[in-house]
Amino acid sequence: MDILGDFVYSLLKFNESLMHLTRYRAIPLLNYKRKQMAKKKSAKQSKAKTSVKKKGAKKVSYRKAATKKKPVKKPVKKTAAKKTTSNKSVINLDDKKKQAGRIAKGLAKKYPKAECALIHDSPFQLLVSTILSAQCTDERVNSVTPNLYKKYPSAFELAKAPQKSVEKIIHSLGFFRAKSTNIRKMAKSLVDEFDGEVPQTLEELTKLAGVGRKTANVVLGTAFEIPSGVVVDTHVKRICHLIGVTETKNPEIVERELMEIIPKKEWINWSHRLVHHGRQICIARRPKCQECPLIKNCNRTDLPELV
Ligand code: SF4
Repeated sequence: MDILGDFVYSLLKFNESLMHLTRYRAIPLLNYKRKQMAKKKSAKQSKAKTSVKKKGAKKVSYRKAATKKKPVKKPVKKTAAKKTTSNKSVINLDDKKKQAGRIAKGLAKKYPKAECALIHDSPFQLLVSTILSAQCTDERVNSVTPNLYKKYPSAFELAKAPQKSVEKIIHSLGFFRAKSTNIRKMAKSLVDEFDGEVPQTLEELTKLAGVGRKTANVVLGTAFEIPSGVVVDTHVKRICHLIGVTETKNPEIVERELMEIIPKKEWINWSHRLVHHGRQICIARRPKCQECPLIKNCNRTDLPELV
């Protein structure tokens, strides 16, 4: 009985210790391991999320960086372009001066005695003809002025001329009413303020009716040999652009640019000679480049290549 009792007692003890082990060791261990596993799992998940976030963040930052880089690059390019342009303009001015010098020599050789194409016998008549030549060819002006100057040879006669009579004579020219009014007013101003004579300054001339800077330059250069500027008419503007000494077609800017690159002593002849060149060789829409003496120094801007 004692043996059986001992056996049962030890069995109970074993059970107790087993229970203790399970309760205080195995179960906490299991729980711990479960927690660890759960932690690892959650860590993995969070890692995955972070990596996704990071990837997203990278894209955003890349985009941001890209958008940031653009404005940085642009000014760099712009400053580089500006430098090139300014360098070019410096080089171009020197080159253009040399080119204009060669063109002036070529023109002088081809047209040594080029003169104003408007028929006139006095500064007054030249002034009238130049006013009449606005929006009109020199040939058409020359076709009416002999009759006009026969009847009204000086400012004194024209100042008293009836409007209708002048209109009738110059009727074939464009804007004949406005032109008649202007030349009569201008003649009256000459009689009233300058004793019938044509003044010799740009300032005084441009105050007269119908007289702009171009007309004043023509009169001062041709009648008085005063180089007050470069006359830029339709031929001069067109040919200078073709040659490449100017890039604009605005007459005022063309004149300013020409005054920079052409020596002052050449200002008057430059225009006269180019007008002749425009009528004889560099004809609008069909320039005769093959027989042009300026071809070596001409850019032939916008023209097709020669075959
Ligand atoms: S080469 Fe041709 S475009 Fe140039 S000036 Fe002579 S005719 Fe005119």
